[in-house]
Amino acid sequence: MPHLAILILFLRTIAAALFRNAECDYTSCMRSGAAAIALWCLLALPVSPAADQSPHQLYDALNALRIDPAATYQLVAANRIELRRGDVEVFFEEGKLAFLAPIDGRTTGFVFSGRGHTLAFPRDVVEKQQMAHFLGAPVLDQEFLGAYVRFTDDAADDLLRQFHSANLSPQLDSAFASLSAPFVAQFNTSQSLRILEDRLSQTPKPYFYAALEGVETGTFDLLFDPQRREQVLLGQRRKSYYDVWASYSVPGSAPPPVDFHALDYSIDTTVLPDNSLDASAAVHVRSETSGERVLMFQLSRALHAETVTDDQGKPLAYFQNEGMTLQERSVRGNDYLHVVLPQPSQKGQEFTLHFHYRGNVIENAGNGVLFVGARESWYPHLGDQADFASYELTMRWPRHLKLVATGAKLDEQISGDSRVGHWRSDKPLAIAGFNLGEYASNSIATEARTIDVYANRQLEQALSNRLDSASSDALPPIDIPFSMSGGRSREAMRPPPPSPADALKQLGKEIDSSIRFYETFSGHFPFRTLSVSQIPGTFGQGWPGLLYISTFSFLSAEAQNRAGLSATRQEAFTDIVPYHEVAHQWWGNVVGWSDYRDQWIDEAIANYLALLFADSRKPSQHELRVWLERYRKQLEEKMPGADTTVAEIGALPLGNRLNSSKAPFGFEEVIYSKGSWVIHMLREMLRQPGAKDPDARFTALLRTLSTKYAYRALSTADLQHEIEAVMTPAMDLEGCRSMEWFFEQWVRGTGIPHYRVEFSTHHTDKGDVVRGRLFQTGVPHSFIASVPLYANNGLAHNVYLGAVVAAGPETSFHFVTQAPPRKLVIDPQMTLLCTTSQTEKTEE
Ligand SMILES: [Zn+2]
Repeated sequence: MPHLAILILFLRTIAAALFRNAECDYTSCMRSGAAAIALWCLLALPVSPAADQSPHQLYDALNALRIDPAATYQLVAANRIELRRGDVEVFFEEGKLAFLAPIDGRTTGFVFSGRGHTLAFPRDVVEKQQMAHFLGAPVLDQEFLGAYVRFTDDAADDLLRQFHSANLSPQLDSAFASLSAPFVAQFNTSQSLRILEDRLSQTPKPYFYAALEGVETGTFDLLFDPQRREQVLLGQRRKSYYDVWASYSVPGSAPPPVDFHALDYSIDTTVLPDNSLDASAAVHVRSETSGERVLMFQLSRALHAETVTDDQGKPLAYFQNEGMTLQERSVRGNDYLHVVLPQPSQKGQEFTLHFHYRGNVIENAGNGVLFVGARESWYPHLGDQADFASYELTMRWPRHLKLVATGAKLDEQISGDSRVGHWRSDKPLAIAGFNLGEYASNSIATEARTIDVYANRQLEQALSNRLDSASSDALPPIDIPFSMSGGRSREAMRPPPPSPADALKQLGKEIDSSIRFYETFSGHFPFRTLSVSQIPGTFGQGWPGLLYISTFSFLSAEAQNRAGLSATRQEAFTDIVPYHEVAHQWWGNVVGWSDYRDQWIDEAIANYLALLFADSRKPSQHELRVWLERYRKQLEEKMPGADTTVAEIGALPLGNRLNSSKAPFGFEEVIYSKGSWVIHMLREMLRQPGAKDPDARFTALLRTLSTKYAYRALSTADLQHEIEAVMTPAMDLEGCRSMEWFFEQWVRGTGIPHYRVEFSTHHTDKGDVVRGRLFQTGVPHSFIASVPLYANNGLAHNVYLGAVVAAGPETSFHFVTQAPPRKLVIDPQMTLLCTTSQTEKTEE
């Protein structure tokens, strides 16, 4: 195909992809700075030297860059032109390569049309598994037909050197340049801000980005960005998801420093009668490095920043969904605000940024139920879930509503048609939140704390509206965990209003008893008050001192029935969801996480504690066992439309990456089920049957985690280290006092082992000898596990024989018993996540 035709094809695809690409891009979520993709500025502005340019002029000039027609190179296969970034190789085999015009003498991009090839071989087992999940092979090996490439590194010099060696000289090709102009204009906006950051920084972190038109895959991204903890990113936008094929750091590389920390926030918010916000925020920031000028805040795209000023009231340059209309933002915008300092930062320097913003982030679900839609970004927020800061909130809201917020409430007054209240954090918070509505409320006060439960005033109504989506028997989502991606939320279902006020009191009591239960495992409840507020939808969320609980959890069993909830979902909303959120008061709001790879820990512990609490409340119903069985069943299943079982979607540390076009609800399907099992297996291994407190070791481990990692991040490596500090000899399957085997298989691995035994017995002087073989399938050959075996003689109870350490597909064992067993039972106590089949006794 002639090159121009290929270019048209490619760029047409890019144009189609651009619309999808423009939503909150994964790369920007993961702090690549590649945010603010905007479809604007098709007018070429003059490109001039940037010495005295304002950030906005420089940004406009970067957007306006086009191909330099005189810098086109014709490549043939013999030239072997290639670029390497980390372990990723890109070969430009045959076709046209044209550089963008330089800016201040520096070239920042090129367009390629022709035939090329790219290869990448991630070494990490989790990444290999994901490559195979998305591409069918654990490596990237793709031909491509076109490329749009931007960089602040030395890619241009590298190519020119290669062109020189190959005796290639530039040619004038105006047709290629003009053909590509509109598309280059569209694509530039996705990279201008990232390039701008390096241009403004005294310590730039040169990066490389390529959008490649894959022959088999369609357009995909290849990013090498030292600003990210994991420099290499391969992936693509598909449907409304960003599928991350692989994301990893180059071996030996250090994570980028955190440039700025927010120390305290002072937020003044007015909720207007139409529920829109008019707000200002002062964020006190400390520079942790020198030489940087750009700070990236999270701020909902639904809020429009009107001014950003410094301590002296001087306006600062900022970028927020540049050039988009309000309507365009809602579809294609992102939830980031980049602020540019007038001078490069000095390490240790402190300053305050002042923001004024307006917009509507409150949704009205009807019946007086309001709901803060932008949960993570209703104010300019800097940092992640392990960046704890102090908060002062001033809220003004319509007089007829009640408002609950994080922190200790200082006062509330009526002023005309409004109420005004103040809250201040008494402990550091990773995030602040509020909720409001026409609430009825009820309080439970004890010496230690006050629990206020708020639910909609218009009770028992509209229950006849059966909810289709609620009637399935699938396990409901637990919560939408704190996510720094601004990502997707499940469509908010509109359940009926909640049950009467006495139910509120009951819920308050139950929550108080869950707090007392959790204090054993997690230490003192960290806040003086806990506000429990109802939200529409099927999920909950645990803010510091403030819970959002699904309406379904407020309903009586009878009302849940009328709402069409299946028995399993009723149990989930009544027994698990509220208490999972209570457990987040420690696990998430005291013990934080900063890398998406560690988010699973707080979710898993919070969920497992909720199962233990449910179990403790109804001992006869064996709730723990029931839920573990449900979760195991879920892990074995293929969800509708999926080509793998839930257990094979991906490993726990993938966090939000588990949600993809291949598994839209991968996070909740994998994290709660597998995560709960992982914590359960640890508890079982630490257990001392017959001891006064068989769980003493497990409890001590959690107490250590909650104190040692209070108000900072707990990583997966930290967790492994803390378990290794308390592990028993029986847990040491590898004999080197390491839990590496456990983390490799259960945390970073996928899949569930299946066990089967064959055995025979014969009588000797010492007793009956049981000899047999344990077969392990469904996991890699290197998989090891301690598998408890029990003898059964047809009676109700099983007799423990011992544990066999299964190593590989087949392991022999023998035991001596006092009576020949009729059958062997594999792990009847459910200490191990596995499936089993009927045991077989072979003839002597
Ligand atoms: Zn959760």
